[in-house]
Amino acid sequence: MIGTPYDTSEWEDDDWQLTDRAAIWHDPSHYPIRGIESTTYPQDQGWKMGKSEEVLKLSKCTISKATQILQIKHTQEPNCQLIWNEILGIALPWEVIWKMLGTPLTNPRDEEAFYKLLHRKLNTRTKDSRSKTKKCRMKCGCLETQLHLVAECPKLNFYRQYATKFLKALGVEEDEIHAIYTWTFNLNTELKPVNKIAQAFLRIALRTVYRHLTKLEINGSPINKKRIKRDIANDFMSRILAFQLYRRNYYLDKVNTNIPIHRSKSEVAKLSPLGELDIVTGHLTIRPLSLIHI
Ligand SMILES: [Zn+2]
Repeated sequence: MIGTPYDTSEWEDDDWQLTDRAAIWHDPSHYPIRGIESTTYPQDQGWKMGKSEEVLKLSKCTISKATQILQIKHTQEPNCQLIWNEILGIALPWEVIWKMLGTPLTNPRDEEAFYKLLHRKLNTRTKDSRSKTKKCRMKCGCLETQLHLVAECPKLNFYRQYATKFLKALGVEEDEIHAIYTWTFNLNTELKPVNKIAQAFLRIALRTVYRHLTKLEINGSPINKKRIKRDIANDFMSRILAFQLYRRNYYLDKVNTNIPIHRSKSEVAKLSPLGELDIVTGHLTIRPLSLIHI
């Protein structure tokens, strides 16, 4: 067979009739299929992958392309964003909010209640079809919604007042604390994230309160304000001690090796609301606790 192989990269309507031509895939970066067109089927041009509208050449359907398309399919904006925006009547900065997950002091279990709250997955009576009533378990008389439990319930004011003292001691100004944004999304009045240590504290406090609220719902264990405050303070302190131990061990492991031991400047800055992190030894000196007038 003599002649220039027919380029099957572009589809022509009469292609299906002329299948005895020598054919080639155009892309020189691949070994194009050569032979008569009937044997070079399928056509290079005109493919779609999954639900993507993008028209691809078969020679471009690589594994990385397939992964990219599948990822896009699985990373649609979660529904909760729209619902929260609607409830609060504003466009919340979701990109910022998702990036806030994780702090130097919290573990994934500490973050769980906050994560569930963002996804509107905390167990509340208005969501639970088995629940006989939709009224708040704290007996305040209101509907028990996600927002009500974390930011509005007057019977949980003690928790927010207590947490406010910590937030102030951790460098958050009182007028930065917003009645909804701070308790729900760890954002300040300007919808900017509060500092990382304040975020850590809020996640730990929420986890603790939610644990007690769950016990109340399941076992009927009464809410003990003193106990909740003590648990919040204990949990927060234990995370600080765990952090210090981790840094100390890191330093001791590396001190006689040629592995760099110093901490990063951004880590030092993140910890500054709590105290001074020594950039070399990783030793954290907490600011005097008397600053926290609890
Ligand atoms: Zn209530």
